[in-house]
Amino acid sequence: MQSDLEMLLKLQVIDYDLGELERSKEYLPDMMENLRREIEEAEQQHQNSEKEIKESRVLQMSLELELAGKQGELKKLQEQMMAIKTNKEYDALVSQIDNVKAAISEKETLLLETIERIEKLDGEIGELEKKAKDIRERNSKELSILQEKMDSVGSKIGIKEGERSNIAVRVPKRVMMVYERVRKVRGGTVVVPVRKRACGACYKALSPHRIQELKRNDQIIVCDNCGRLLIWQNGESE
Ligand SMILES: [Zn+2]
Repeated sequence: MQSDLEMLLKLQVIDYDLGELERSKEYLPDMMENLRREIEEAEQQHQNSEKEIKESRVLQMSLELELAGKQGELKKLQEQMMAIKTNKEYDALVSQIDNVKAAISEKETLLLETIERIEKLDGEIGELEKKAKDIRERNSKELSILQEKMDSVGSKIGIKEGERSNIAVRVPKRVMMVYERVRKVRGGTVVVPVRKRACGACYKALSPHRIQELKRNDQIIVCDNCGRLLIWQNGESE
């Protein structure tokens, strides 16, 4: 009986590994997707900043041209002031000059903001480029490790399944049936060692009678509380 249980303990480890391998088929692609997205986002951020700098420089140039135009206009209007003859002409010209000055002031403000924006982006762009490069390098390494894992999951499962059937054939059918049944209900841990005279999984204390049965080691003893298979291991206190 002890050797059956010891086989089951080995089986349990293999089943755990198999479960992990199956789960990795789900989470590895998710992890890879996250790493790829992180690279994309960092690169997008860098590209957006570069694009914004270019656009801001174009805006800066057109604002400077417009300003030069407006200043030329202002100069002409101010020259016309010298040749004014009537109050009516004077009023009209003053109003025109005021309009041009307001336009100049508005464009100057916009130009200043644009220049500040360019300076700020120029200061950030190096950092963003480095960040994107670092993330690409780091994540690419991780991605190739994960890809290797993905590629080998199938063969690892095959190996574990081979090990499993090697053990399973050496365990009596009815014992295997108990194992499978408990595994279905309880998940991973089916065979549990006795700890401090109690079930090692649910901690339900065992009666002295049960302990005696376990030590006799001639039948499978299940925990009354959780139904798991109990195993008496050497070193457990009497
Ligand atoms: Zn139990």
